[in-house]
Amino acid sequence: MKSLKELYRIGPGPSSSHTLGPQRASRLFKEAFPYADYYHCDLFGSLSLTGKGHLTDYIIIETMKPKKCDVSFRVGENLKHANTMVFYAYDENRMQLGTWTVYSIGGGAIRIEGMDSTEGKDVYPHNSLDKIMTFCKEKKIRLSEYVDQFEDIDDYMMEILFQMCRTVDTGLNKEGELPGELHLKRIGRSLLNKAMQCTVPAEKEKLLLSAYAYSAAEENASGGMTVTAPTLGSSGILPALIYYFYYDCKYQREVIVKGLKLAGIFGNLIKENATISGAEGGCQAEVGAACAMAAAMVAYLRGLNDEQIESAAEIGIEHHLGLTCDPVGGYVMIPCIERNAVAALRAMDAAVLAQFITEVKKNKVSFDMVVDTMNYTGKKLPMELRETSLGGLAATVPLK
Ligand code: SF4
Repeated sequence: MKSLKELYRIGPGPSSSHTLGPQRASRLFKEAFPYADYYHCDLFGSLSLTGKGHLTDYIIIETMKPKKCDVSFRVGENLKHANTMVFYAYDENRMQLGTWTVYSIGGGAIRIEGMDSTEGKDVYPHNSLDKIMTFCKEKKIRLSEYVDQFEDIDDYMMEILFQMCRTVDTGLNKEGELPGELHLKRIGRSLLNKAMQCTVPAEKEKLLLSAYAYSAAEENASGGMTVTAPTLGSSGILPALIYYFYYDCKYQREVIVKGLKLAGIFGNLIKENATISGAEGGCQAEVGAACAMAAAMVAYLRGLNDEQIESAAEIGIEHHLGLTCDPVGGYVMIPCIERNAVAALRAMDAAVLAQFITEVKKNKVSFDMVVDTMNYTGKKLPMELRETSLGGLAATVPLK
């Protein structure tokens, strides 16, 4: 498995596969053909069907500046990947200098056809939770110490923690409408106001978490700076919990960073053994994956043991199995923003449930089993329900 730096990345919203990946591909293509007079990019699959609402064309054109670049939304058949883009570089006489086919494979990662991986080398030698747990038992270490055995990443993770808090803060301080045709109102701030007036502790906690998740997801939806956790579409879930544990529960940031690293193990396993791309596996791969990561972190922060942490992560993703990706109008807004809040609440519940369930019975379903099932389920989802905006809510909810 790769470094956690490849999982947690800071970048502009609203979608890691539709903005971060294309941004990275454009940058690399521009570097490979610096003397081109102008560039062109054809988008296929999900990038074509939802690219407009996801700002894919905008980010490519911006990245190619000051050179000119056109972007076309194309219909393609027998695509090798649901998120395909083809770049062309031309000289001043309109002679083609080169072309690349690039796949945006989720979480901002890309693969260039015919080239070595642009991702870093494997850092972690294990590729299942089962193997990781066995390794930890042999070494007599906790799961939360696993990451430190293979990479020294605390400074980077501290930056990630600060960016997540900044994203929530920025969102909490904005009001008005989100950009785009849906004319959706930002409500993170009003939820926070409701939380402040609430006198029932259990309800207050839910309102605070929802306010933070909405604020981060609204910031992402408007193209703000966000962290892939593991994707940008699901980037409100971990930040909401981190903000809550840091500011409301007063946990030390060093402890939260440990929880964030632990969450990264679960995100990395899903990325490695299934997918974190909504275009490949539906929303279970994005929000489901984020909920599993967040549930593991909460379980750690609540002082649960490693088996209970696994159980929390497993519960977090199991009950998202089959969740479709059907963003209305191609915007990362409906159902995405509300879904981030629901998943943040679920992650909290999953950790509490794991604590009590594991006291009375052994879990029959392992995390690795659920990840395999998620991969299988994602492949069975119809194309209309995998980030194409051709079915589901996208087909039933009117734009205006
Ligand atoms: S529905 Fe889920 S996977 Fe699809 S764009 Fe929204 S957050 Fe991402």
